[in-house]
Amino acid sequence: MAESRASPPTSHIPHPVTKGVAVLGSTGSIGTTALRVLARHPSRFHVAALTSNSNAKLLAEQASATRAPFVGLVKDGRDVPGDWCLGPDALVQAASLPGADIVLNAVVGAAGLDATLAALRAGKRVALANKETLVVAGTLATTAARQAGGEIIPVDSEHSAILQCLAGRPRAHVRRLILTASGGPFRDWNRQQLEHATLADALRHPTWKMGRKITVDSATLANKALEVIEAHFLFDLPYDAIDVVVHPQSIVHSMVEFVDGSVLAQVGVPSMELPVLYALTHPDRIEEPAIPPFDPVAASPLTFERVRLDDFPALRLGVEAGRTGGAAPAVFNAANERAVALFLDGALSFVDIARAISSALDRLGGLPGGTREELLAADAAARDHVSLMFK
Ligand code: NAD
Ligand code: MG
Repeated sequence: MAESRASPPTSHIPHPVTKGVAVLGSTGSIGTTALRVLARHPSRFHVAALTSNSNAKLLAEQASATRAPFVGLVKDGRDVPGDWCLGPDALVQAASLPGADIVLNAVVGAAGLDATLAALRAGKRVALANKETLVVAGTLATTAARQAGGEIIPVDSEHSAILQCLAGRPRAHVRRLILTASGGPFRDWNRQQLEHATLADALRHPTWKMGRKITVDSATLANKALEVIEAHFLFDLPYDAIDVVVHPQSIVHSMVEFVDGSVLAQVGVPSMELPVLYALTHPDRIEEPAIPPFDPVAASPLTFERVRLDDFPALRLGVEAGRTGGAAPAVFNAANERAVALFLDGALSFVDIARAISSALDRLGGLPGGTREELLAADAAARDHVSLMFK
């Protein structure tokens, strides 16, 4: 007689436990991308918290669509549901919730710092889009992660690419990281043209659709400086081992050169959905039918160029600030944030952004940056310095 195999009682089938994800900056470019990705994987993830700076209307729509148990709004908290958490403390509260296994930090700027630190100190995974965190306080963040068992998994496409190429290989195997840069809208503009670049020109990014601040950062190449510093802290490599190459098609997301000369690259069409998903699942990979198959012929040709450092001084200034250490990266970041805000308001010209950064670093780059308080003091001084320059 054939042996009959009864199916096990359902109570014995292991149910996958869904992970709670706190999405900080949920109304932004990365935040909305993340909510799309999360909505496709309800058997693995649920939204544990949502926060935004303003835009209460979109936040309310997101809250009802995701049934997030925690909703935080930093500004403009009139006429909002009574159970929302209001004010700047909402970020840290969301990042510290016991039900948030992963904190996806998609806030823009140094405003995201305390939430990252709180999540890492609580031993959580931080899926980090908010690169400014690592630029302002790379040592504090990596130390907090080490001490409390938290981890920082990058969402930035270049760093996601590097993490995927490294695939757990030891640092001693790595000779060099090669970060790719699209070159932004001004890749082939000469210095004289750059003097007359308008806000509309700067916001016309050729390959990525992103928030306004990072779009301007991509035009000045300050974004690539932030990313070099981010890579230094994430992968614990010296600045001499981190290079930048211009790759206008944004298909090769970055490369790792190993000590034997072998080079691995991670490639794909420019979409933040994959790096967001990978930051949630790393080191696993899960089925994602929404990302279409890669067609290398359609993506051709792939080209590479040297960076024009003299025409895009923000990149060199940022990397030098990284090498200087102390509060210099925080000064670089804050001066850039303030100058970009003024540029977005029409109060200064495109080339003034790098001038502002340079002036702030000359004046304040030597400040100490050993503690959060020292870093925040340097950040505030740099913002004041730039505001005064253009008053
Ligand atoms: P965005 O401007 O579209 O969104 C920013 C989000 O942060 C919004 O939800 C906003 O409400 C919130 N926010 C802004 N200021 C805040 C404050 N002071 N306090 C609390 N919340 C605040 O920006 P984005 O393009 O999504 O970028 C977010 C971060 O991700 C940035 O650090 C950026 O450099 C990084 N990043 C973005 C992309 C991209 O494709 N957009 C790619 C790589 C990295
Ligand atoms: Mg990037």
